[in-house]
Amino acid sequence: MSQDIQQNLSDVRQQIAAAADKAGRREEEISLVAVSKTHAAEQIEAALEAGQRVFGENRVQEAQSKFPALKTSWPGLELHLIGPLQTNKVKEAVGLFDVIQTLDRPKLAQALAREMQRSGSRPDCFIQVNTGEETQKSGIAPADIEAFLNLTRDDLGLPVVGLMCIPPIDENPALHFAFLNELARRSRLAQLSMGMSADYEQAVRLGATAVRVGSAIFGSRPAVSPS
Ligand SMILES: *Cc1c(COP(=O)(O)O)cnc(C)c1O
Repeated sequence: MSQDIQQNLSDVRQQIAAAADKAGRREEEISLVAVSKTHAAEQIEAALEAGQRVFGENRVQEAQSKFPALKTSWPGLELHLIGPLQTNKVKEAVGLFDVIQTLDRPKLAQALAREMQRSGSRPDCFIQVNTGEETQKSGIAPADIEAFLNLTRDDLGLPVVGLMCIPPIDENPALHFAFLNELARRSRLAQLSMGMSADYEQAVRLGATAVRVGSAIFGSRPAVSPS
């Protein structure tokens, strides 16, 4: 099992390097976020032993049960929240995560600003953009990004570093990646979190600075209820 994880990580890193090379980009511009949701601490340890340091989790509670101990043993570990954040979990999230990729509504922005002020911890934030304008999906509509940036970055002083998207499952992801890239360029945001196991190479070619890869590293997940 741990050998599989090592091999998978090495394969994914190689694919990222090849895609970067094709696009005339440097491999170091792209951060590989290993998505470890549903996987046990032992599997995360295997990835850490293979040199992986950046991880993504989609639920605060699950991350809280696995990562404080891992962070103590591996001081360079960087943890990203990639799932929806409820305002009653903001305190825990700000204490645990180094990056919050799912800033998606004004009420959450206000709660984050208050908690960052109170605690002094300031995790970098990505604005989640609903590029497909799907009603059931969270995220800021593309047309509302400028106003949301005014609120979050300028009024509340949140450390907003980039944009993140999860394309609709039934559409060509490349169109959404190119669109997110254009939106970030217009807003002068440097970072782009896009691409998962099935499409991270395309995302790298279209400018991703962070790809979120789970099953291609850790294997398939047991089916779980949607978060
Ligand atoms: C689970 C998840 C991923 C990783 O998905 P894989 O297809 O396993 O690579 C990426 N991003 C988000 C937001 C996720 O919830």
